Amino acid sequence: VAKRLEKFKTTIFTQMSQLAIKHGAINLGQGFPNFDGPEFVKAAAIQAINDGKNQYARGYGVPDLNSAIAERFEKDTGLSINPEKEVTVTSGCTEAIAAAILGLINPGDEVILFAPFYDSYEATLSMAGAKIKAITLKPPDFAVPIKELKAALTKQTRAILINTPHNPTGKMFSREELNVIASICIENDLLAFTDEVYDKLAFEMDHISMASLPGMYDRTVTMNSLGKTFSLTGWKIGWAIAPPHLTWGVRQAHSFLTFATCTPMQWAAAAALKAPESYYEELKRDYMAKKEILVEGLKAVGFKVFPSSGTYFVVVDHTPFGRKDDVDFCEYLIKQVGVVAIPTSVFYLNPEEGKNLVRFTFCKDEDTLKSAVERMKQKL
Ligand code: GLN
Repeated sequence: VAKRLEKFKTTIFTQMSQLAIKHGAINLGQGFPNFDGPEFVKAAAIQAINDGKNQYARGYGVPDLNSAIAERFEKDTGLSINPEKEVTVTSGCTEAIAAAILGLINPGDEVILFAPFYDSYEATLSMAGAKIKAITLKPPDFAVPIKELKAALTKQTRAILINTPHNPTGKMFSREELNVIASICIENDLLAFTDEVYDKLAFEMDHISMASLPGMYDRTVTMNSLGKTFSLTGWKIGWAIAPPHLTWGVRQAHSFLTFATCTPMQWAAAAALKAPESYYEELKRDYMAKKEILVEGLKAVGFKVFPSSGTYFVVVDHTPFGRKDDVDFCEYLIKQVGVVAIPTSVFYLNPEEGKNLVRFTFCKDEDTLKSAVERMKQKL
């Protein structure tokens, strides 16, 4: 393996899902729904395939999808953007992140992340030859430590990567926090990369896009995807929204990473994004009911549960059960209890952090969530 990837192992999500299958455990680890996406979106994909929309798509996106993304963005943020010049369709948000980093960050540039962070950020920054500075968000509220953030800035700092709602903690960045980060970006001429894939799963407060804050659109790459909002994580349709001077970098990287994204799924994604607002309301209602089952269940089992405002994840302190650390706890949970969770220490630069915490997902049908809670009540 090349040096730039030497330190990375098989992703924790892959490891845990394999163990779930091997031990017949209930998988509350990797974040993918065990129910299907909406019929009208699947029908649109089948239609597109039958209509012969099967050759390479335009590199930066099928025109209807670029337009649908721009319309959705305007509804969400009030910002009117040019779908031809400011939207790039990618193979999932993971590719959008890679394209933004590889297209806009030079080797030696420093990028600030908030730990715990989604695993692809670190690996992609490493591939780009960037340096990583991680600022740890600590329980119970995972607030941004502003002083530490300011102290982490150097002449080499080029960007701050923000994920809100935040995987794995469920934290949502408050307007105050985003305002401070925005003024830091403006004062130090930094870019903001924002991963907002859980924006439609915001339960306790309204989601705020960094790009919508004064002075920020021009320095922000906003990234999102279809997977979480439409329960179609396997379709891998994502996008990056940025002003033309940043879109140029994103598109140059995208052209040589994947060139274009799966054509029929892009047509179906365009249909999906035209869903009525009631679709989003129902999605939220369904997820709030699931969240209630899992959170109340985990409390009854005896975990200390940290409040999650968004995403389909919740983080708990496992130490009442006396295992050595998060990895040991998760192994015990799989083998002795038959439930899979995700150890969080892999989401920190310093692996000594996060050892008290594990993440559960509630993107599963209610019976599955109830059975997992039952197993834990009986065997933990
Ligand atoms: N985003 C998903 C999660 O956090 C996992 C995606 C993946 O497996 N790479 O669970």
